[in-house]
Amino acid sequence: MSVAADAHTFQGVGVGRGLVVGPVAKAYPSPTLPADGGGSPDDLVPAFDRVAQLLTARAQAATGALADVLAATAQMAQDPALRGEATRRVDAGESPAEAVDRAVARFVDMFTAAGGMLAERVTDLRSVRDRVVAELLGLDEPGVPALDRPSVVVASDLAPADTAVLDVEKVLAIVTQHGGPTGHTAIIAGQLGIPCVVRATGVMQVPVGAEVAVDAAAGTVVLDPDPAVRDEARVRTEAARSLAQDTAPGATKDGHAVKLLANIGTPQDAHRAAGHAVEGVGLFRTEVLFLESATAPTLDEQVAVYSEVLGAFAGGKVVVRTLDAGADKPLAFATQPDEENPALGVRGYRLVRRVPELLRTQLEALARAAEVTGTTPWVMAPMISTAQEAADFVATARDAGLSGPVGVMVEVPAAALRARDVLDVADFVSIGTNDLAQYTMATDRLRGTLVDLLDPWQPAVLELVATTARAAGEADRSAGVCGESAADPLMALVLTGLGVTSLSMSLGAVPAVRYALRSHTLQECRTAAEAALAARTAHDARAAVRSLADPGVVASLAL
Ligand code: PEP
Ligand code: MG
Repeated sequence: MSVAADAHTFQGVGVGRGLVVGPVAKAYPSPTLPADGGGSPDDLVPAFDRVAQLLTARAQAATGALADVLAATAQMAQDPALRGEATRRVDAGESPAEAVDRAVARFVDMFTAAGGMLAERVTDLRSVRDRVVAELLGLDEPGVPALDRPSVVVASDLAPADTAVLDVEKVLAIVTQHGGPTGHTAIIAGQLGIPCVVRATGVMQVPVGAEVAVDAAAGTVVLDPDPAVRDEARVRTEAARSLAQDTAPGATKDGHAVKLLANIGTPQDAHRAAGHAVEGVGLFRTEVLFLESATAPTLDEQVAVYSEVLGAFAGGKVVVRTLDAGADKPLAFATQPDEENPALGVRGYRLVRRVPELLRTQLEALARAAEVTGTTPWVMAPMISTAQEAADFVATARDAGLSGPVGVMVEVPAAALRARDVLDVADFVSIGTNDLAQYTMATDRLRGTLVDLLDPWQPAVLELVATTARAAGEADRSAGVCGESAADPLMALVLTGLGVTSLSMSLGAVPAVRYALRSHTLQECRTAAEAALAARTAHDARAAVRSLADPGVVASLAL
């Protein structure tokens, strides 16, 4: 983000929470090309093969999001277009290492120009380049060394393949000089619950073995921390551990229940969530299963995967969202490639206009999975704009044989403004504050430079959440929140005060939200909501709630 505030402090973007102190271990740098190019032409294809095999083996040994991203990187090493480009270049006289380097550079340019999720894959592409070039030059595998003691891993940028070789028991924190908060390193660190700071400019200057304090809440890396910082790290780690001991259902101090649910994307996530103190799944992002699929998943494939997720929460609440393809989550078999403004185009529920069979097959697969497991899912559609779309979705779901609650996401201002009409036809709503902020504030959610506008504390966004929650209360229907704002303990108080009935978030966020709720009465939450709504800026809204909140909860925000 910004340059070091002083010679000892590096400011970046924090991901997650936590403060840890430990010695630096550095990732091996990418191999540079020798002046004479390097590598023998006969080794080109075998080098790609060896890298693909190694990554596939690691993907098989890993679980969850990590396994998915490793498999995706392995697939990239097998990509015929990339290999073809490198082979053509060798045939034209380039050295193999040079040919791989240039072929990857060309794909990096294409992915970067495409933006969105493709741009996020650039790190994977570079990882394939580094590994294949190292193979060709006979060098050690680039990436992190085996850790002999608990360490802070510092890298220029860390690819998913690098994180696969990490012994997570020995990784205290991950710090990168590049990368972004929505990149793979950040996602995997979040999944593993490891404190992480990305975009810490200058941090690569810190020598191996030096002690650093990594504060994910503040986004800082401090070299040679003083004893006070070390003490603070000990206290915060202990306090976070003790917060996680509380496994009671979500409720305010005076017993008003607010369900605490997990956001998941895969069956592995479901199994992990089932082992934690959550009351079910509030958002199953089904498109995550098919991000790498070239063709639409079959009915049987879908029945199998949905059954596994429902089975993990036998008899419990699982809210399944139908495919939210398009914009930041392109699916090869569904997304229209040539849209000028994909976030405003045929994405989410709107796909029904182009490929109606996709939705029908998915709903039928969910109905079959319900029969197989005996657990009836809640289902909801993303990107609903009108009450008519909501009514059509409910009818299609009923037609497919789904007997549980059928609802819709409220993430378009139009749906929030007319929530009463939407709730006339839908059984429940779930507010997606990530997209609601994007569309209310007319701000691309992938654009890091405009994060202040995307803030869910923006008064206009809060107003739409309030309108939706009020309509749900009047209709006696449930209104959950499953966007990132549900993971913010102070926002959780506001949402509860506005009448939201469930909060769905990544597992790591649950203990602090549970603690915030049970430290306040419902009336205190209502007062917090009023204060937030009365503020004229996002900053003032948050500050107002912070000043009203229990001091213990304010202190817990940094854990
Ligand atoms: C949201 O938009 O808030 C949401 C939960 O959906 P996603 O982040 O998957 O778009
Ligand atoms: Mg969304």
